[in-house]
Amino acid sequence: MNTPAIKVCETFFSLQGEGTLAGLPCFFIRLSGCNLDCLWCDTTYATDEPGRIMTVDALIAAADEFPAALVAITGGEPLLQPASDELMRRLIAAGRRVILETNGSLSIAGVPEGVIRVVDIKCPQSGAGGSFSAANYGELRPTDEIKFVISSREDFDWAVKTSVSHNLFTAVNAVLMSPVSNLITAADLGELILASGLPLRLNLQIHRLIWPHKSRRA
Ligand code: SF4
Repeated sequence: MNTPAIKVCETFFSLQGEGTLAGLPCFFIRLSGCNLDCLWCDTTYATDEPGRIMTVDALIAAADEFPAALVAITGGEPLLQPASDELMRRLIAAGRRVILETNGSLSIAGVPEGVIRVVDIKCPQSGAGGSFSAANYGELRPTDEIKFVISSREDFDWAVKTSVSHNLFTAVNAVLMSPVSNLITAADLGELILASGLPLRLNLQIHRLIWPHKSRRA
């Protein structure tokens, strides 16, 4: 009997570009579809392209070709597809180090133990402000990472207020601050982080720094 099927945008092997595991070799499984429409989205193709249906077995076999790599389940929004749970469970059971990148709007409660969850909280100027599921604050684990994508001083101030009011610095492993290119420079965001006196982490997409002419990582 076939294992559950998932709609996949692309799979590829590259360097993890973001978060505390940036720089490590990583096998990416980008799932199709998203429930948000962020203004600064850099992966619209995850929704626009038709994608292909793959079984969990086939995805596990594809990941097995890169046994030493991290495995990142990303999107789009991976949690839209119920079979993503089984995919993550199987990968963890196989001893793989698994990252889930999620937009924070859907419940993270069912994500298998052992998965490192990188959870977005969308800022007011993203076009998806208010999309974060408040119940997720109570589901965070010490291994998780929270990501804010910052386009302005106003977004930064909001992200700081949110981080402090929800004790994110003690709840998760890292609070990441990513600049929206063309709207705020990494240097300016770095200055804001330093002035805040808080343990925020400047989060640059290193794949874009080392391969600036590639429109996508695949
Ligand atoms: S949640 Fe992510 S994939 Fe979806 S629209 Fe926003 S940035 Fe794009």
